[in-house]
Amino acid sequence: MKQVKIHDKIFEPYLFETEIQEQVKKIAIEINKDYEGRKPLFIAILNGSFMFASDLFKNLTIDAEICFIKLASYKGMSSSGRVLTAIGLDMDLFGKEIIIVEDIVDTGKTLNEFLPKLLHQQPASLKIAALLHKPDALVFPINVDYLGFSIPNKFVVGYGLDYDGLGRNLKEIYKLV
Ligand code: 5GP
Repeated sequence: MKQVKIHDKIFEPYLFETEIQEQVKKIAIEINKDYEGRKPLFIAILNGSFMFASDLFKNLTIDAEICFIKLASYKGMSSSGRVLTAIGLDMDLFGKEIIIVEDIVDTGKTLNEFLPKLLHQQPASLKIAALLHKPDALVFPINVDYLGFSIPNKFVVGYGLDYDGLGRNLKEIYKLV
């Protein structure tokens, strides 16, 4: 595999397609075991998680539902000055077994803001599946229940993740040189 140039930056191969697929299968096997007979609802957070969500879902053998949402933040009147809304979340989550699907947990800020909103609807359970996690970048206390890879604090692209709109179509994950 070669380096790729996206916009003005050079990225080098980091995680190969085969190792990504292997890890995704491992997570699916774990979820199949943990959620046997429980019909979980996967909530995939767009845009970055679409490939991970798709591959993970294909490897499930249990009954499960999935929906895709987008998180949008706008300047509101709250004390933090930022309000996070979930676009496309039109289901009642009361009593549901929820698994959030994220591409990457970086500082944890996004999930730290979003999870309380979900918990407000009183799901039966709430777990997080993330393909990537940067432990060194974590600022907010987020526990990833199903994790693909722990990675260093470097910017990555590919397999759904973008750099300024491009790079999502790469089958592998690349890191900034
Ligand atoms: P957090 O709120 O945990 O700091 O950031 C989560 C979001 O930031 C991810 O869902 C992703 O969209 C974006 N992000 C964080 N790190 C990276 C990275 O290395 N590459 C890309 N492409 N996006 C990232």
